[in-house]
Amino acid sequence: MADALSSLGKAMFDDAVMAQKLPSAVLQRFNECLITGDPTPEEDQKVIADAIFTWARELGAIDFAHWFFPLRGGCGAVGGMLGAFKRDTLIDLEFGSKFVTKPMKACLPHERLFQGETDGSSFPNGGLRVTHSAAAFTTWDRASPPFVTDKCLYIPCAFVTHFGKCIDEKTPLLRSMDAVKTSGLRLLKAINIGTDAKTMHSYLGWEQEFFVLSAALYKARPDLVNTGRTLFGKLPTRHQQGDLNYFQPIPGKVQELLDIVQAEMLKVGCPMAVKHNEVAPGQHEMSPVFRTANVSCDSNVLFMEVMNREAAKLGLQVLFHEKPFAGINGSGKHANWSVGTDTGLNFFYPGKNEAGAKLYVTAIACLAYGLAQYNEMVRCTVAHSGNDHRLGAQEAPPAIISLYPGQGFEQFVESIVKGGDLLGYKAEKKKQETGCSAAMHIEANVEDRNRTAPFPFCGNRFEFRAVGSSQNCCLPVMVCNAVMSAGMAHLAGLVEGGMSHRDAVAKVFQENKHVIFTGNGYSAEWPVEAQKRGLPNLNTTPKAVATWNSEKNKKLFETLKIYTAEETEARQEVMYENYISALCCEVETMIQMTETGFLPACAKDLEKYKGVEKLAGNRKAIYDSIIDQLEKLKAAFEKKPHSSLSEEATYLCDSIKPQMAALRAAVDKAEGVMESSLYPYPTYEQMIYHH
Ligand code: ADP
Ligand code: MG
Repeated sequence: MADALSSLGKAMFDDAVMAQKLPSAVLQRFNECLITGDPTPEEDQKVIADAIFTWARELGAIDFAHWFFPLRGGCGAVGGMLGAFKRDTLIDLEFGSKFVTKPMKACLPHERLFQGETDGSSFPNGGLRVTHSAAAFTTWDRASPPFVTDKCLYIPCAFVTHFGKCIDEKTPLLRSMDAVKTSGLRLLKAINIGTDAKTMHSYLGWEQEFFVLSAALYKARPDLVNTGRTLFGKLPTRHQQGDLNYFQPIPGKVQELLDIVQAEMLKVGCPMAVKHNEVAPGQHEMSPVFRTANVSCDSNVLFMEVMNREAAKLGLQVLFHEKPFAGINGSGKHANWSVGTDTGLNFFYPGKNEAGAKLYVTAIACLAYGLAQYNEMVRCTVAHSGNDHRLGAQEAPPAIISLYPGQGFEQFVESIVKGGDLLGYKAEKKKQETGCSAAMHIEANVEDRNRTAPFPFCGNRFEFRAVGSSQNCCLPVMVCNAVMSAGMAHLAGLVEGGMSHRDAVAKVFQENKHVIFTGNGYSAEWPVEAQKRGLPNLNTTPKAVATWNSEKNKKLFETLKIYTAEETEARQEVMYENYISALCCEVETMIQMTETGFLPACAKDLEKYKGVEKLAGNRKAIYDSIIDQLEKLKAAFEKKPHSSLSEEATYLCDSIKPQMAALRAAVDKAEGVMESSLYPYPTYEQMIYHH
């Protein structure tokens, strides 16, 4: 039998395939252009396009598609479909005679690989596109290899308007990767470490959590279909007590799905690193081996797409929403992130030699600066309606953004601030005995893991734990790159201005150490302490999004060439729009399910008790309260202001959400007393346990 790994990357036009299919001079120029950012010469474009199109057809592809990431969120992201594409044929005909047609031998023109045009006005664009000037263009992200899946050649693309304004997730990420390169190389030069580096990369390894349930049950729930989460439903008596589900064997049918998806991802060059059962019943996780940030973001979007595709074939449905079921854990997408050089220097690895150790301390200072100075910006990247159910709910980090570099490191920061040397941090692993002779001692990392922190250190990377499961990773990682670049440029500036390396690091820590917190992020004391430190606690999406377009943020994005001021504004508009459309969709679905499902069921249930009123107990009162709460919700929803996006969003958050909760509580109470066969939708118990 062939080694299972033999299919690794077989359907990806990666370095190895390129080396096989392209003349070495072309390949060399292609790689150089990736470092310099220069365009690929037209002659080379032709050769490359020819090679890719031919290769794809040999792999059975009949279509190709420019695949890009519009600014989807809110209702748009409900199905976990974050990518967009139109499939075009890979076949062209040669019209040899009047009647006989045959496929052209030659491939499509090279422009078809490098550029595409589409209608930008039909995608969320924050006002950057209007229908009368709607052209928008896709252009190949040359740093992310095309691949073949589902008989289609996918070409990962950036998506910009006629005037080069970004209206997607990918473009700002790519720009932020350039910013990391510029600021990172500048910092290395200033502190005279690793100066042989030619370029810098940022890396991402995502951990995707999700629920899997029967497709038939999913389709019978209008709330899941329309909003991605259940708007009603009582917890079964067995739910999450004792964390029984965590690391249990994956149920057979789900295991089958995960195996299939793993094999598919392997072919397109994305080996999965981990798959396991999560804490909540019905919940699972998969994560790949980390890659450069853009490639990894691509593979996450593809993963979600392939999961949906393969689940449907097995009669299953995957839920990527942050909180599909109230009362049990929601889903996140931890973004494991690091930056490093082409020479293999990882800025977040404590380092085996002096230079590495110094770089590590310096890099943490830069990150502390970024997170402290642009705290709200980081918060905004995980602010959306789904994640509001999760952050701060004792299952995910709080909405307060802090940095956890480890307790030992926190003490070390104090010593640096007091004048100590940059080389005092001992990063060696610690030996711990197990207390029995059969199981050997363990080598514990120098720092414990803190799962209550939004930004904990994980040995060679930081893990941004607040990212929601339905999100495209591009925005959170883009902002990690941006704030890190800000920190690196700031520290480099101090050294370039004549300050010693040590003093610069000490000054940056002194001014930003209030963002370092190594305690329990779930505790009641932390928000109080955070307030004393001046750290924002933006605990709802509207509060967070209101800070996005601050002068400070616009300036940073402009300086780093990630967003123009106009693009920053547009992004805020999209964030508001996504929030509003998600909430409105939820309210309308609630009203409809109550009117057409719950109220008739209540009436039917009551009928049975005619003549035996005593048996009905307080059912009538419980059912009546549904209509009271429904009317209140409708009345409040009708009063929704339309003055501005921010007011609309704030109203939905502050005035509508509590009323949604009140209606839900009334309906869920009714579920507890209604004859079970009359409950009009699949119950939590059925959805969570019946695959
Ligand atoms: P956890 O212990 O947090 O559950 P997992 O093993 O599930 O971690 O996932 C860790 C993820 O971090 C994987 O995708 C892994 O490839 C990735 N990772 C490891 N090292 C780095 C790094 N230096 N930069 C970015 N991601 C990394
Ligand atoms: Mg993790």
